[in-house]
Amino acid sequence: MAGKTIFKRIIDKEIPARIVFEDDRCLAFHDVNPQAPTHVLVIPRKEIPSLADAADDDSALLGHLLTTARQVAQTLGLANGYRIVVNCGPDGGQSVDHLHVHLLGGRALAWPPG
Ligand code: AMP
Repeated sequence: MAGKTIFKRIIDKEIPARIVFEDDRCLAFHDVNPQAPTHVLVIPRKEIPSLADAADDDSALLGHLLTTARQVAQTLGLANGYRIVVNCGPDGGQSVDHLHVHLLGGRALAWPPG
C-alpha cells in the first residue's frame, strides 16, 4: 500500500506516541504540537481518511471515538470542560489524512475558531 499516514504508522507501532488509551477500535495519544495544556487525538484503527469518507456503517465507530474522548477527558481531569474538534478537508484545516478527533482542554478556549 502506497504511503502510510503518520497515524497509521503510530497504530502499527512503527513510530512512538504518548498513548493514553487504546482498545480494539481506537487509539488516543498526545498531539506533538499541543494547542492547549491538554491536546489529545483520538483515532480509529480503521483507515478512514476523513469524516467526509466515513460511511453510514461507521456510525458506531464514530460514536466510540466520542465516548473515548469523553473518557480520556475524565481521566486527564478536564472537569472544567473541553472542546472536541474534527477538521475535515483542506478548508477544515485537516493536515493528516486519517480521521481524528481533537480533544482540547486545560484552559478557556476562544470562540469562534479562525
Ligand atoms: P489536523 O490538522 O486536524 O489534521 O491535525 C493533525 C494533528 O496531528 C496536528 O495537531 C499535529 O500536531 C498532529 N500530529 C502530527 N504528527 C503527529 C505525531 N507524530 N504524533 C502526534 N501528533 C501528531
